[in-house]
Amino acid sequence: MNAECIFCKIVSGQIPCTKVFENEHLLAFLDIHPAAQGHTLVVSKRHYDRIDRSDPQTLAEIAKALPKLTAAVQKAAGADGYNVLCNNGPAAGQAVEHLHFHIIPRRAGDGVMKAWKPQTYPQAHLEQIAGKINAELAL
Ligand code: AMP
Ligand code: ZN
Repeated sequence: MNAECIFCKIVSGQIPCTKVFENEHLLAFLDIHPAAQGHTLVVSKRHYDRIDRSDPQTLAEIAKALPKLTAAVQKAAGADGYNVLCNNGPAAGQAVEHLHFHIIPRRAGDGVMKAWKPQTYPQAHLEQIAGKINAELAL
């Protein structure tokens, strides 16, 4: 519990939410400013600020809940698909620094999320960046 954190306050019941699912590890509720109708947030009950500083067990519990949750959100929204999105860090658009995943219902051509502009890699750079990631993983 982080006393400054809005999602911790929602988890503890200090701030209301429109709950759609809950178990001992996570709480799922509707986003108050939805990108699409039915936009749902899946929030860990323990406070972690982002994926790389969270615990794998919590992430596994969220992953276990996703098949059922995503299917329910898509169906209830009458959507044809959905995005599962997790912003990590303000640079990536994270406004609430408490681990959460967005489930955003989608329809073809809805324009809800703009895809990134694909770039290209010179081959040497491709190998260099992969080498750096491998080195970090070996630490
Ligand atoms: P992010 O940019 O990934 O940190 O997303 C935070 C999300 O939390 C935004 O989509 C907000 O609309 C949503 N949000 C913030 N406060 C609340 C709240 N009290 N209840 C429901 N959703 C919220
Ligand atoms: Zn929190």
